[in-house]
Amino acid sequence: MGKNKNFANKQQRETNVSTKVKADKTKTKVNGGVFIYTGAISVGELSKSLNVPVGEIIKFLFLQGKMITINSILDDELIGLVCLEFGYDFEKKNIVAAENFEDLEINDDPSKLKPRPAVVTIMGHVDHGKTTLIDAIRNSNLVEGEVGGISQEIGAYQKECKGQKITFIDTPGHEAFTQMRARGAGVTDIVVLVVAADDGVMPQTIEAIDHAKAANVPVIVAINKIDKAGADPERVKTELMQHNIIAEEYGGDCITVEISAKKKQNIDGLLEAILLVAEMKELKANPDRYALGTVLEAKLDKNEGPKATLLVQNGTLKEGDYLVVGTSYGKARRMTNEFRKVLNEATPSTPVSVIGLSEVPLAGDRFMAFSEESEARSIATKRKLIKESQDRNATSAASLEDLFNLAKEGEVKNLNIIIKADSTGSAEAVKSSLEKLSNEEVKINIVRATSGAITESDVLLATASHAIIYGFNVRPDARTRAKAAEEKVEIRLHRIIYALIEEIEAAMKGMLKPTFVEEVRGQAEVRRLFKVSKLGTIAGCMVVDGYIKSTGGVRVIREGIVVYEGKLASLQREKDSVKEVKNGYECGMLVENFNDIKEGDIIECFEVVEQGK
Ligand code: GDP
Repeated sequence: MGKNKNFANKQQRETNVSTKVKADKTKTKVNGGVFIYTGAISVGELSKSLNVPVGEIIKFLFLQGKMITINSILDDELIGLVCLEFGYDFEKKNIVAAENFEDLEINDDPSKLKPRPAVVTIMGHVDHGKTTLIDAIRNSNLVEGEVGGISQEIGAYQKECKGQKITFIDTPGHEAFTQMRARGAGVTDIVVLVVAADDGVMPQTIEAIDHAKAANVPVIVAINKIDKAGADPERVKTELMQHNIIAEEYGGDCITVEISAKKKQNIDGLLEAILLVAEMKELKANPDRYALGTVLEAKLDKNEGPKATLLVQNGTLKEGDYLVVGTSYGKARRMTNEFRKVLNEATPSTPVSVIGLSEVPLAGDRFMAFSEESEARSIATKRKLIKESQDRNATSAASLEDLFNLAKEGEVKNLNIIIKADSTGSAEAVKSSLEKLSNEEVKINIVRATSGAITESDVLLATASHAIIYGFNVRPDARTRAKAAEEKVEIRLHRIIYALIEEIEAAMKGMLKPTFVEEVRGQAEVRRLFKVSKLGTIAGCMVVDGYIKSTGGVRVIREGIVVYEGKLASLQREKDSVKEVKNGYECGMLVENFNDIKEGDIIECFEVVEQGK
C-alpha cells in the first residue's frame, strides 16, 4: 500500500522546473542580431545558433587563453565574449534551466502557502553559553521515550513550543552560518545572539551582529548567565545600542530575553520570543511541491554510504524521491529525524538525515527532488559539467576590476566594503566618506568598519557578502593573506583617505587606470634588539614568510597596525651585508630613520610594480 500511496502523492506534487524547461525547445535563439540564451551552453550549441564554425570559436577562445573543445560548457562571460567577437549582441533570459536550480525563484500561489517553522541559528562570543543553550533547548520538555535518544549527528533538531515547531541549527557560532552564506545558502530565518550578562558585548558578539545584518536576518538577544552574581543585563543592552541593536524597552525593535542556560531558566521565554518574531516574518512555504533545500551536514557512513542532513526549505521530500544534490544524485532511500525515527516525508523547515546519495555532498550545497531517476541523473550530469568549467574559469568574490567593468557596461551595482583601520575614529571617518559616494549606479554598502588588523574573520565575511576589504594603515598577516588568496577576496591597502576615495570613485565611473600596485615580498618577526651606539637599534629578526630584500620598501607593523614606513638602511646575515634573506633564516635589519623598533614587531618588505606586469 505504501508504494501506491507514494505514487499517488507524486502525481499531486508540483514539479519545480524540469519538465517545463525540457518542453521549451527554444532555449537559445537569435533575434535581430541579438543572441538570446537562458544558461550555460556548449560550444557546439553556440556554434549552431550563431552560425559560426566551431573551429572559429575554439580558435578565438584559444587566443583568449582558454583551452576548450566542442563539448565544453561556456559560462556567461565566455558566451558574451564569443557573441561580441562574431558581431552579435547578447541577452540572458532568466528562464531558469533545471540545472541552475539555485537561481530558481519560486512564486507559489499564495493560496497554497502554509506556515512553516522558523529556522534558528545561535551565535555569540566564545564562552557566553551557546553550547549550553543548545543543550538546554534540546533537552527541555523532552517527551518520554525521547530522553537521551536525541542524536547530535544530524546537525539540526526541532523543538515544540505551544504546539508550534522551531528548527534549530546545531552548530553554534558564525563559522557555519557564514560558510553557508558564502555558498549562497541562506537557511537561517532568525539569529539568537547569546551575550553573557557578566561579560557584555565582546568582539565575536559584534562579528555575529555584522553577519546577521549582512544577511538581513533578525536578531533576538538572549542575555545569558543571569544567575551569576555579576550579571548586569542593562549594561548588555546599553552596549548593544552602540552596535545598532536597540532593545524594545529602549524604543527599538529587538527582543531581549534574560535566561540562564545552565539553570534552564526562561528557556520557554526565549522559545516564545522566537515564535513571536517568526509570526511577524510570516514564514510560509508550499508543502505540495517537490522539495528544495540545503545540505546542512554530510559524511560517509561506513555501513550506509553517503549520509546527508538536508533542510527542506520548500516543498515536501518523500521517501523514494530522486534527489540532485550539488553535482551528484540519488534516491532518498531512507529518511530519519533527530531521534533516528524513520520518516516517510519531510515538510518545509524539517531537517532529515538521508541515505541513498551517490556521493557525499558539501554543507551548503542546494538540493532539489524529482519524480524520475532519469531526470535527476541528466540534471546532475549537466551540473557536473558546468561546475568543472566554472572551476576552470574561477573568478574572484568581488574585485574593483569587476566593478569597473560593470560600471563601463552601465550596470547598477552594490559595492560591499569592509573597512579595517588603525583606530575606531579613522574607521568611522573612512566609513562616512565612502558612504557619501553612493550614487544612482553604485550603492556603497559598508558591511563592517572596525579598528584592528585584517583577520581571517574579515576574509570570511568578505566571501560571504562578496565584499572588498579596505585596510587603512593596517595589514593582514601572512595567514590572512593566504586565506584571502585562496578565497579570492580582494584586499586593498591605503594610507591616505583621499587616495582610497579617489580609487573607489574612479572604479565607480569605470575609469580605473592601470596603477602601480604594491606586492608584498615577505615578513620577518623581530626577536631581539641590539643597540649599537653609532647606528641605532638593530632588529634581530626571523623571516617568517616570503623573503626580505635590502632594496625594497619596509613597514613596521605592531599588532596589525603600521607604525612606520620607509626603507632599510642595512640587511645583514651573520655580520655580512646581503641583498636577500629567505623564509626560515635569521637576519639583522636596520630601518632607516626609525629607532623605536620593539620585540614582536613585524617588518614587512614590499616592492611597487606596475599592475599586470
Ligand atoms: P560557548 O563557547 O558559547 O558554547 O559556551 P559554553 O556553552 O561552552 O559555556 C561556557 C561556560 O559558561 C561553561 O562553563 C558553562 O557551564 C557556563 N555557562 C553557560 N551558561 C551559563 C549560565 O546560564 N549560567 C552560568 N552560571 N554559567 C553558564
